[in-house]
Amino acid sequence: MNDISVFPVRAFQDNYVWTLRQGSNAAVVDPGDAKPVLAYLKAQKLKLTAILNTHHHADHVGGNAELLEHFPVPVYGPYDERIPTVSHRVREGDRFTLQEFGVEFEVFEIPGHTKSHIAFYGGGMLYCGDTLFACGCGRLFEGTPAQMYDSLAKLAQLPAATRVYCGHEYTMANIKFGKAVEAGNAELAKWEQAAGAQRAKDEPTLPSTLAQEKLANPFLRCEQPEVIAAASKHAGKPLKDPVSVLGAIREWKNNF
Ligand code: ZN
Ligand code: FE
Repeated sequence: MNDISVFPVRAFQDNYVWTLRQGSNAAVVDPGDAKPVLAYLKAQKLKLTAILNTHHHADHVGGNAELLEHFPVPVYGPYDERIPTVSHRVREGDRFTLQEFGVEFEVFEIPGHTKSHIAFYGGGMLYCGDTLFACGCGRLFEGTPAQMYDSLAKLAQLPAATRVYCGHEYTMANIKFGKAVEAGNAELAKWEQAAGAQRAKDEPTLPSTLAQEKLANPFLRCEQPEVIAAASKHAGKPLKDPVSVLGAIREWKNNF
């Protein structure tokens, strides 16, 4: 391994523009706003060498054009015309290397939040945008519960130690919801303590790990009896398959 570090540049209310850095080089994931990124690069005397986009939402790609005016770099993103600034379109199974960082990323298609959402996995890091959140998952704007279930299952197969860099600081609210679903899960109380302490110091709660997500994230636990029971109770009918359970708790969370 090498000495890449990852810095959370904040944007808007609760977005993170994950900034990989090594030496004087930087690469950013989902720059929704160019301003804080440019300020950070300038203050740290860094040169931008690549942009990665997970999905087309403005809070993830809105800064591309302005960054490209300053740094004409490759932009890796999904096959989706709604992101015209993508120069390198990638799909499931594609791999590419960020030379300056010596990291090879593998691409996963993870529809659900949007239909063309992708994730980047490499160097033990997972950049998963608004699909898998710490203790939660994204809203189903363009996809079905079945798609989200499959996408989360795909990510869950990666090594347990994988560091999960998602797009938003939603952890505390997600843990609160998790406790409503799975009151008996002691991992949630432990996580709430730890994340609450981080937020009190205005620190990010991210990255999490896949190991932690599997222990506590209700959307990765749709086969657990307590999650099935809570989802069934909320839906007012017995739910038998994990996709229906995911659909029910996602709807529950929408109004939580
Ligand atoms: Zn989004
Ligand atoms: Fe977002």
